[in-house]
Amino acid sequence: MDKILVSACLMGHAVRYDGRSKPLAHPAIARWIEEGRMVTICPEMSAGMPVPRPQAEIEGGATGEDVLAGHARVVEISGGDVTEEFRKAAENALALATETGCRYALLIDGSPSCGSGFVYDGTFSGSRQAGNGVTAALLKQAGIAVYSDRDIEELVARLATGEAHSAV
Ligand code: SF4
Repeated sequence: MDKILVSACLMGHAVRYDGRSKPLAHPAIARWIEEGRMVTICPEMSAGMPVPRPQAEIEGGATGEDVLAGHARVVEISGGDVTEEFRKAAENALALATETGCRYALLIDGSPSCGSGFVYDGTFSGSRQAGNGVTAALLKQAGIAVYSDRDIEELVARLATGEAHSAV
């Protein structure tokens, strides 16, 4: 049965920068937990970042791919450079996905780590732009199918299709 790497804050863990969680209420979540599919990680905490921690964004309107390529930094609202922590966070998430055989990931959108539809533009003004966070970018580069929390219905459909085919 396919496993799903999932953002810890989506699973109700209070690991966000502001010390809160952002649980996703969807019937598929309870089912997937029961089926033992969910592999939970907070990439940023896995890299040693504390809770709470300063808000961080990818600078200069760049994306997670730019950070991985060494062309952009991740900076805190207080000015600290956390690029290396974010790269380590992404590596930890990919290592866990690989070890546990996750072909799918369900990550919360908008985060500079877990975002996959949009990220904030580095101005700390609430402005969004299309793009991946650092973890989502690395997982995608490794061939893992990443879905944002807003796209959970697509993941439900994808898993149903895949399992129908493998049952034939
Ligand atoms: Fe949630 Fe991902 Fe941020 Fe951790 S790194 S708090 S799992 S969005």
